[in-house]
Amino acid sequence: MNSNNYSSTRPAPTPDQERGGLFAIFGNPLGQSLSPLMHNAAFAEMGLTAQYRVCQTGNAAEAVRRIREMDLRGASVTLPLKETVMPFLDEVDRNAREIGAVNTIVHRDGRLRGYNTDGPGLVRDLEEWFGIRGKTFIVLGAGGAARAALLSLLQAGGTPVVVNRTPERAEALAGRFGCRWVPTAEIGRLQADCLINTTPVGMFPETDRTPLPKRELARFSHVMDMIYNPVKTRLLREAGAAGCIVRSGVGMFVHQGAEQFRLWTGMEPPRERMRQAVLERLGENGGD
Ligand code: NAP
Repeated sequence: MNSNNYSSTRPAPTPDQERGGLFAIFGNPLGQSLSPLMHNAAFAEMGLTAQYRVCQTGNAAEAVRRIREMDLRGASVTLPLKETVMPFLDEVDRNAREIGAVNTIVHRDGRLRGYNTDGPGLVRDLEEWFGIRGKTFIVLGAGGAARAALLSLLQAGGTPVVVNRTPERAEALAGRFGCRWVPTAEIGRLQADCLINTTPVGMFPETDRTPLPKRELARFSHVMDMIYNPVKTRLLREAGAAGCIVRSGVGMFVHQGAEQFRLWTGMEPPRERMRQAVLERLGENGGD
């Protein structure tokens, strides 16, 4: 990791600085991001004067330079920076290193520390829903979200199986985490308690797409889609019609953001206010 020119002997922040300060999300594109809305709602709810902004860039070096120049207290990192930003940070948390992706940066005492809150967000949401320990999960996809899912499911006592369109990527990912895998075309061979879609197929604006034919769905009691826009993807609509209990990505999104809030502020996050802000924007009043 890079060293930096910042002194670690800066004066401790005043109470006003603790309540305020700037945060931002970095990535490209960011037009659809709900993180600014969610975090600004959380700051207001907690009586903080902090602000969360949008910084659109796909360049990791530029993102890190801007975090330092603007003296941000923290940042969210999304596509395409989750992996490329890692070499520019002073430290990367062990889980983020194992996943190979950072979605959160904490800037404290001149040092930038990277974390990944997607896994903890998923675990908290699944525990609230139907539990993890002793259960088998099909993880559909083999990208960054799948890596976060595999590590966190294993840590929480679940058994993930990787299913992916490109068999070589499924095999490589499964090998890295010591789990089973099959190509998507052979998903009919598998039994599992829950299917989790980690692919972007069906996400706004391509809402008429789905990653699996509906005939494959009825054998899963639970189906979750990490996508949260739309809240009810075609996959979830077809799974619901096939008798599955379904869950959108809203809960995971709120919990991963809540873990970011905790890392940045040290405060207990106002999860219900954050969920409400997200669902209001997505046009849904209830949970799922
Ligand atoms: P990624 O790294 O680009 O991974 C994409 C994966 O999806 C790859 O394995 C790819 O398969 C597969 N895929 C892409 N297009 C496909 C298609 N047409 N048919 C079948 N498979 C396809 O993306 P990511 O970072 O993992 O993110 C994936 C999704 O998770 C996004 O929708 C993101 O919004 C969501 N997510 C949600 C949360 C949340 O808080 N709810 C958090 C993180 C991510 P190949 O290997 O065959 O190319």
